[in-house]
Amino acid sequence: MGVASGTDAIELALRALGIEVGDEVVTAAATCVPTVAAIESAGATPVLADVDPETGTLDPEALAAACTQRTRAVVPVHLYGQCADMAPILAVARERGLRVVEDAAQAHGAEYGGRRAGTLGDAAAFSFYPTKNLGALGDAGIVVTDDPAVAERVRALRSYGERERYVSVEWGRNSRLDTLQAAVLATKLPFLERWTERRRELAARYHDGLAGTGLVLPVEAPGRRHVYHLFVVRSLRRDVLREQLAARGVETLVHYPRPIHGHPAYAHLARGGALLARSERLAAEALSLPLYPDLRDDEAEQVVAAVVEAVAVEAVAR
Ligand SMILES: *Cc1c(COP(=O)(O)O)cnc(C)c1O
Repeated sequence: MGVASGTDAIELALRALGIEVGDEVVTAAATCVPTVAAIESAGATPVLADVDPETGTLDPEALAAACTQRTRAVVPVHLYGQCADMAPILAVARERGLRVVEDAAQAHGAEYGGRRAGTLGDAAAFSFYPTKNLGALGDAGIVVTDDPAVAERVRALRSYGERERYVSVEWGRNSRLDTLQAAVLATKLPFLERWTERRRELAARYHDGLAGTGLVLPVEAPGRRHVYHLFVVRSLRRDVLREQLAARGVETLVHYPRPIHGHPAYAHLARGGALLARSERLAAEALSLPLYPDLRDDEAEQVVAAVVEAVAVEAVAR
């Protein structure tokens, strides 16, 4: 069901699965704000759990530990284009009767155990914001599910609660997928697989070129197809590395400079002690190298050369 954005897709999927005011929804502390904003828009209370130190995706044990009597759903985030460890996450969900909404906004075409991102939970949300692996020219998103009742409810929720024209049977709003964006997406969709392959090719180049630098490189967990929405390296001296690369003409970005509870608006979601420490470390160390399908091989080599130089000059690897 096409909707107006990835944020709306998460919200409407949660609502369609029956999540209500007072329900708790667990998600990873290492994500961008829309994941949590969508949980709040659904009326629920977000609860943050820590991530796996290698992949940066929701740690299944942290999920189990974050659950209370009121927990009704979990939103695992397929961060940077790699699926969260869904088998143990689904096991926790089954045990506790939680609904599962995948945040697949960065993971078009990613796989887990041979299954596509978006087919693993009760429902999933994709974003087609222009910077995503499949992007429109403006905002757009989609909810996918194999449950016809959930699909029907999302269709109603995105259109004023109407099950038939001009008959609203429940609360709903306007979250239509804009027709022009849909047309753009339809022309781009056939290229997605080719673009994904190109992303993986460039990532392989980075892995080869940077293996000796001592930088922490992205981990491709066994059985998961990473689609490299982002190629995120980690450095204890991330900001110095970033400056060194900028001085060599390489623009980098940080995804994301704060864990969710590091934002003033979400400070109240912080949890005691070291419960979210891995998410905090990721925010302090992560650096995204340039990676998009149009990046040329020689440009990727320039990036590799610049990183190798920066590491040699400034000892930024550890
Ligand atoms: C982009 C993104 C969203 C939100 O999608 P929008 O289309 O921008 O609303 C949610 N979660 C993650 C992980 C994202 O990367």
